[in-house]
Amino acid sequence: MRAEVLSIGDELTSGLSLDTNARWLSQQLENLGIGVACHTTVADDLDVMTEAFRTAIRRADVVVATGGLGPTADDLTRDALAATVGRPLVRDDAALQHIRCLFAHRHREMPERNKLQAMFPAGSRIVLNPHGTAPGIAIEVPRGDTPPVHFYCLPGVPAEMHEMWFATLQGELRRLTGSRVIRHRRIKCFGAGESAIEAMLPEMIRRGRHPRVGITASEATISLNVTAEGATEEECLAAMEPTLATIRTELGHLVYGEGDDRLEDAVVRLLGQQGATLATVEWATEGLITQGLQAAAHGGPETPGGLVVAQLEALTRLLDVPAEPLAVGRVELVETMALAARRKFVTNYALAVGPPPQIAEDNPTNEPVVVALATPEGVRTKNLPLLSHPAIQKAWCAKMAIDLLRLELLGR
Ligand code: ATP
Repeated sequence: MRAEVLSIGDELTSGLSLDTNARWLSQQLENLGIGVACHTTVADDLDVMTEAFRTAIRRADVVVATGGLGPTADDLTRDALAATVGRPLVRDDAALQHIRCLFAHRHREMPERNKLQAMFPAGSRIVLNPHGTAPGIAIEVPRGDTPPVHFYCLPGVPAEMHEMWFATLQGELRRLTGSRVIRHRRIKCFGAGESAIEAMLPEMIRRGRHPRVGITASEATISLNVTAEGATEEECLAAMEPTLATIRTELGHLVYGEGDDRLEDAVVRLLGQQGATLATVEWATEGLITQGLQAAAHGGPETPGGLVVAQLEALTRLLDVPAEPLAVGRVELVETMALAARRKFVTNYALAVGPPPQIAEDNPTNEPVVVALATPEGVRTKNLPLLSHPAIQKAWCAKMAIDLLRLELLGR
């Protein structure tokens, strides 16, 4: 069974509002085992809407549209649906009564135009909207020899739409699919590129495989999304387990977590397990590491604090680094920063990130940012070449530095 999610409204096509309904509905449909093949967004234009409805009916078994059910002249969903299925709009007295009651309850006169919201294409069903004046519409659209298309129109207001989904659509669609379910698991990796990871998992990321494995990259973090379909949640999870185990074995230390885990979560977990603590001193990364770690640790004992500096003077005043730090060389400077932070904060580890390239006088633009990790055994440094797009350079440096610590904690 394939679904299409249709979003209606000028505010969406003009870019004024973000279409969060399509995302939410796709997640719900996927949870029921109904794969979503298309998202379509259209303006409040009768011809464009009718064309989109016709196309959706041709290519999907379930269509869920949101928006355009209000009482104003630009709310055209019911007209477009009536035109698409070739049926007249007829008034539903019970729906009209419900709308009247809502207005009376709010001590407001019902405007004449709201009567429009009680008009439905002949042969359709009403989807109750307990807290709004726009009832939804459900209609089965015949399609020759193939089973009819299940077409739903819901209001655009997310809270009303969610309530109607759970009260009506979820149950109806579950009965239709014979309660198939889809479940997802996500493995998070860091330390290799998308294509390198794909090459390490030959055969895994191919179309038609079950469970399906997809790969996405976001700011150097790679996610492997595993999806299984089955009769129950347990069946899906069991079907995914061997795939997850293979991914973990093949990728080894590149895997740092699951689900919504960030690198910082993984590092704070490792610090906690080892009863270890970490301090930070950052220049080029402007506090990103400290912020991320503090958020992950929730004030826990693993990360007592960090320093963020933007000038050499601050460094020399706060930490015992040489008065002419750049004269000693950038690597030595960052090593000194890490050692001093470890000493001052009295921690097991300290991470230091050196100056950004344009600030260091002896550093032509292409020279690396230096990170150093002070450990109970000594200090390790790493040069980070300026590879990524300038917009994500800082975040990338922060992740590389955190990963240096993660690998140290894993004994690698
Ligand atoms: P109402 O009668 O309550 O206006 P409606 O069906 O006419 O319902 P719209 O007027 O299209 O809905 O949208 C109402 C509001 O719902 C919008 O102003 C917007 O804030 C929100 N909304 C509409 N569509 C979406 C969407 N796809 N994603 C997120 N929010 C949406």
